[in-house]
Amino acid sequence: MNRVYNFSAGPATLPEEVLEQASKEMLNYGGTGMSVMEMSHRSKAFDNIIKTAEQDLRDIMEIPDNYKVLFLQGGASLQFAMIPLNLMTDKKKVLMMNTGAWSKKAIAEAKKFGEVVVKASSEESTFNYIPDVDSLDFSEEADYVYITSNNTIYGTRFTKLPEVGDKPLVADMSSNILSEKINVSDYGIIFAGAQKNIGPAGVTIVIIREDLIGKADDSVPTMLNYKTHEKSDSLFNTPPTYSIYIAGLVFKWIKEKGGITAMEKINIEKANILYNYLDESELFSGTAEVKDRSLMNIPFILPTDELNAQFIKEAETKGFVNLKGHRSVGGMRASIYNSMPTEGVEKLVAFMKEFETANK
Ligand code: PMP
Repeated sequence: MNRVYNFSAGPATLPEEVLEQASKEMLNYGGTGMSVMEMSHRSKAFDNIIKTAEQDLRDIMEIPDNYKVLFLQGGASLQFAMIPLNLMTDKKKVLMMNTGAWSKKAIAEAKKFGEVVVKASSEESTFNYIPDVDSLDFSEEADYVYITSNNTIYGTRFTKLPEVGDKPLVADMSSNILSEKINVSDYGIIFAGAQKNIGPAGVTIVIIREDLIGKADDSVPTMLNYKTHEKSDSLFNTPPTYSIYIAGLVFKWIKEKGGITAMEKINIEKANILYNYLDESELFSGTAEVKDRSLMNIPFILPTDELNAQFIKEAETKGFVNLKGHRSVGGMRASIYNSMPTEGVEKLVAFMKEFETANK
């Protein structure tokens, strides 16, 4: 099998075990005589798939009973609108942190619905750090506080949460959900597009505290109201059935590997293999501030655009693909989600060392 090491930021690599199981079940899922793709979302078999997926996610994230898990569509990007539509209902105001392109998009969308106070921004230095939340005052009245917990493009993450008092904290966890242990109760809403650490594109996971559901105005379109999806257990209309099925297999895979604690341990080791090399290299350098480095997305650069292009090209011939960085940062970015094996990072670093020796 000639699979490559795929460092794509998303859609991203998936566990081989999951893909193998899906391929075994492709034509005949559990004796139903059909593929999950061909199955009614109202069937018993699918009911079991979605319920099991939810329970496994609840188990691995230790989601308290007063939180609902919703399987929605529209990507993380639709949440940029659904969140203000459903939450910006009382003070009509939100406090937001501007830590990257995805925060900026969420800010622009929230502005359509009410007042946005940007508490801090790292835009002046291409978002290569997270502003210090301890020096900020989040005590002013607002409906909620919003952060992007991991910034996919710039490779930064919040290692400390803002002190928000009794305001709900909303987090876009698209690129670091399931990668490290978190306390769900610290948040009002956690949401994530699936295509990085969860499964295929098409499903968006929303974990929402019960009391935050049902606040939307009657004028909010039915499909954009959390209440609609809560009442129908994410089956108001046809959900992205196949994506939910694969997500369920990924949750089982995480469970079997020892849960999020085990994932976090491996993720720290894995990221350190690359960071340690970036810190000692005389040719490559990491672009994110050390204190805020992401465990999932690692951007790095070479001294010239020519060397960056040469590295990406040579890497590809060795089976390390999708390493090109986002245009706003340049250089390279290695996305090393849960499913990237340690061996992939070790081999990448070995290749980087060879490249350094050849191009000193
Ligand atoms: N938020 C973050 C942090 C992301 O990385 C992305 C996608 N790369 C998005 C939001 C947008 O996700 P989607 O394409 O699912 O709308």
